[in-house]
Amino acid sequence: MSTERGCGEPIRDALRPPQDSLTGEVKDKARALGAHLVGIAPIERMDGAPPDLHPRRLLPEAKSLVSMAYRINRGVQQLHLRGVSPMPFSRFAGLEPKARLDDMALDLANYLEDLGYISLPVPANQYYYQEKGVGEISHRHVAMASGLGRLGRGGFLVTPEYGGAVQLITVVTAAPLEPDPMLDEDPCAGCPRPCVSICPVQAIPPDRDRVMTMAGKEYRYGWLSYARCQWACGGMVMDDHCYGLSDVPMPAFDEEDDAEWVREEFLLASEKRFPWDRAYRAAFTYNACSKCYVVCHPERLKRKVGVETQPG
Ligand code: SF4
Ligand code: SF4
Repeated sequence: MSTERGCGEPIRDALRPPQDSLTGEVKDKARALGAHLVGIAPIERMDGAPPDLHPRRLLPEAKSLVSMAYRINRGVQQLHLRGVSPMPFSRFAGLEPKARLDDMALDLANYLEDLGYISLPVPANQYYYQEKGVGEISHRHVAMASGLGRLGRGGFLVTPEYGGAVQLITVVTAAPLEPDPMLDEDPCAGCPRPCVSICPVQAIPPDRDRVMTMAGKEYRYGWLSYARCQWACGGMVMDDHCYGLSDVPMPAFDEEDDAEWVREEFLLASEKRFPWDRAYRAAFTYNACSKCYVVCHPERLKRKVGVETQPG
């Protein structure tokens, strides 16, 4: 599993045993392509996934999953939390890292194919099924299976190096790569949960969990209201620096797991928005809340695992 802090200092390589040469070459290639973190899971670690999200559905020959993370720039994070401007965050925390991850995954998959193993890059989460709120696979679950971090209270991946401020991608491959160990430590233990308190639409309940089994072990992590989150990220909220161009009252989301019902509510809400707003938003699509994973500070997490923090 990978291993670089923001300053490039390794913190975990020394702890893991040497890996076989193919695995080492693939990880070196991923880092050379620009990945800040890289880890590997055997495909079987995803066997608890729903069938329509299992990576084997996309590549039946798959033996391994390569998870890569691209960190979000700290200056951009801080600007976003201060609410000064949405532009750098939209470009450099979302669009650009995901575009780079797409390129990295395609290059890494082709590299593996040149070595003789059919491989599939799965695009970063630019594209997903709106009605379900999921993509082709769950990159964050693959990242957890690959040892990059653990799913936390906010439902996103929390890494020791960068907290929640990472974007993720996956390469599914027939290559028999050596897996990384999963992280044991609960990243949320003792944390005052700023991810819960910062959410402008109360999409992260403090005490509602999802439960999953991975590699034979049960894990709990936070349940997220996709409907509420989409209300803020989808441009229906102007307050709290959400940068929406309308402020549409949120309905009582007491049927939040009913995808059809939620979709109807969104259609009704969009009818309430002014026509100029719709035209305007077609040109400017920068609104995205994202505050929960940006406020998940890597500095605090580093203190918890006993690593000296960097100033600033
Ligand atoms: S902010 Fe704290 S509680 Fe929330 S996901 Fe990060 S570590 Fe967990
Ligand atoms: S992205 Fe924003 S609205 Fe969505 S859960 Fe996080 S803080 Fe809440």
